[in-house]
Amino acid sequence: MLTLSGPEIHPVQGAGEIPRSVDVAIVGGGVIGVSAALHLARQGVRTALFEKGVVAGEQSSRNWGWVRMAGRDLRELPLMLRAHKLWADFQNGNHGDTGYRRCGIVYASKTPDARRRHERWIEAAAPFGVEARMMEPGELAQAVPGLARTFEGALFVPGDARAEPQRAVPLMASAAIAQGAMIHQNCAVRAVETAGGRISGVATEHGRVSAGTVIVAGGAWSRLLLKGLGLSLPQLKILSSAFRTAPIEAGIESCASFSSFALRRRLDGGYTVASSAESLAQITPDALRFFRTFLPAYLAERRGMSLRLGRDFIDEALRWQPRDGDRPSIFEAVRALDPQPHQANLARVRSALTEALPAFRGGVAVQSWAGMIDTMPDAIPVISTLDSHPGLVVGTGFTGHGFGIGPAAGEMLADLATGRTPASDPRPFRFSRFTDGEKLSLQYWL
Ligand SMILES: Cc1cc2nc3c(=O)[nH]c(=O)nc-3n(C[C@H](O)[C@H](O)[C@H](O)COP(=O)(O)OP(=O)(O)OC[C@H]3O[C@@H](n4cnc5c(N)ncnc54)[C@H](O)[C@@H]3O)c2cc1C
Repeated sequence: MLTLSGPEIHPVQGAGEIPRSVDVAIVGGGVIGVSAALHLARQGVRTALFEKGVVAGEQSSRNWGWVRMAGRDLRELPLMLRAHKLWADFQNGNHGDTGYRRCGIVYASKTPDARRRHERWIEAAAPFGVEARMMEPGELAQAVPGLARTFEGALFVPGDARAEPQRAVPLMASAAIAQGAMIHQNCAVRAVETAGGRISGVATEHGRVSAGTVIVAGGAWSRLLLKGLGLSLPQLKILSSAFRTAPIEAGIESCASFSSFALRRRLDGGYTVASSAESLAQITPDALRFFRTFLPAYLAERRGMSLRLGRDFIDEALRWQPRDGDRPSIFEAVRALDPQPHQANLARVRSALTEALPAFRGGVAVQSWAGMIDTMPDAIPVISTLDSHPGLVVGTGFTGHGFGIGPAAGEMLADLATGRTPASDPRPFRFSRFTDGEKLSLQYWL
């Protein structure tokens, strides 16, 4: 039995014996792989998803549960608008309560400079049809009862939402199964395999499955999976910690970020709280390898980013190596990335929370957890086919904001897998952007 310090995950009744052959094999049972499976199954495509642990055992159950357009990279906005529609349709579709509520999202502007950035984003997002506006300090104080700090105002997107990470993705997985997808948990993919210059299937710990198309949606493991195919995905891992409170009547329904902390109302009446400004990066061989590529992203985040040299350096150098499909791999040795939360960071979050919102002084942190975020140098994902590997589709690198956009990203992956035209342009998310000479650009609005 897998024990996780992370939040309790809604169980999924997966499939038994693995099939010998399918049209599409998916690696990874997070929001991205599961959404792709759901869309493929709806199209009647014979699909099997392989998850080394349990559905949503990594990032997809550990995130804050924000479903946001607010401050999002403009290249992702068409997908995010589509994602809101898919979330709403799923919530209304008798699949169970995902916790999806259009509660609005608020980003308080701490400084005049932050306020200007927020104003610029509102202007830039308007042509996409995003309804957003600035709240003045008085209105912010009304929207967040008891706020004991003053801000320059706040970016407010009323159509944004929250959802319940521990329920949403498992419910989507159950819906995919009901539509005919096969979901195999505790079934690691050791390697994606090729034959005759194209993808031929996956080697799992329980045997081989042939498939003309393989979708790699392995979150923080995608770089390693693709390395086995001779591909270099510039992806790093960042640790992010969170805690939840016991149920409390604080009167705050919108998700809200106050730079030193951020909170979201949970279905159980408590709040998920975390730092919107702090994270921890391990110094590993990959971090050194991609130092230059990630430098602009690091400089943009450096005030909140701590660097740590520890056991992960040796671990990555020795254990995070591709193996052939016949031998046990690290994928079955590590069923779920379940890192220790950064307690010093959470102590600072707790003190910022209770200082700004005294109503939380009696509120207890009943559980803390952490997740490993998969990040890309330009902070947008890869959602892409690869000319060099016919049959391979990659959906990864969501850089800390893949939960909300997940349903639409999964739909785009399903369309790329079956050759349908996606609902919006996938070009910004192509894998080849790291090598085709176009300069990577990083948008920083929040
Ligand atoms: C603390 C935290 C807060 C966040 N807050 C938000 C938020 O509020 N809103 C938001 O939109 N996003 C948020 N995110 C980011 C979001 O959770 C992720 O972007 C999203 O969940 C990524 O989904 P995924 O499916 O790509 O990866 P994951 O959910 O990590 O899933 C990948 C899965 O692949 C499996 N896997 C990997 N390799 C193999 C293999 N070889 N064989 C079989 N299975 C394999 C793993 O076990 C894992 O379950 C947050 C993340 C964290 C950690």
